[in-house]
Amino acid sequence: MDPVPIRAHNLLCLLGYRGRGYDDAFVERMTDVHRTLTADPGTPVQVLVRPDRLCDACPHLRTDGCSLGGRGHEAHMRAQDLDVVRRLGLEEGQVLPWREILERVARHVRGSDLPTICTTCPWLGLGWCAEGVERVRADRQETAPP
Ligand code: SF4
Repeated sequence: MDPVPIRAHNLLCLLGYRGRGYDDAFVERMTDVHRTLTADPGTPVQVLVRPDRLCDACPHLRTDGCSLGGRGHEAHMRAQDLDVVRRLGLEEGQVLPWREILERVARHVRGSDLPTICTTCPWLGLGWCAEGVERVRADRQETAPP
């Protein structure tokens, strides 16, 4: 199975996904990737520090990358990716199963970290992503051996 290319900060975005996005095409792509990973947590994911399969369907993608916050925003997004790469102990380009991403999130991220990681994201205030991170942490605690 070919790995799903996902930029590092979008690994966290997927945890808070509730069927909303920037437009219909983006929602369709996000739903497809989210469904794939949820149905089979063994799905390989390649960690990127650049636009990914989700960004390809985003109306804010330009030739020089993400324009969500205006010109130069791609540099901000890459810094956010690198922050997530560092926190999860990943390497750019690394391929690993989605379930291992979830295990690393559970060990190294808290919902309360997201304001520091995600800073300018328009979705941050909804709290869905923080709830998603906490759900992953709780799931791992419930399944951990005593
Ligand atoms: S707050 Fe924004 S950048 Fe952070 S995980 Fe959620 S959608 Fe992604």
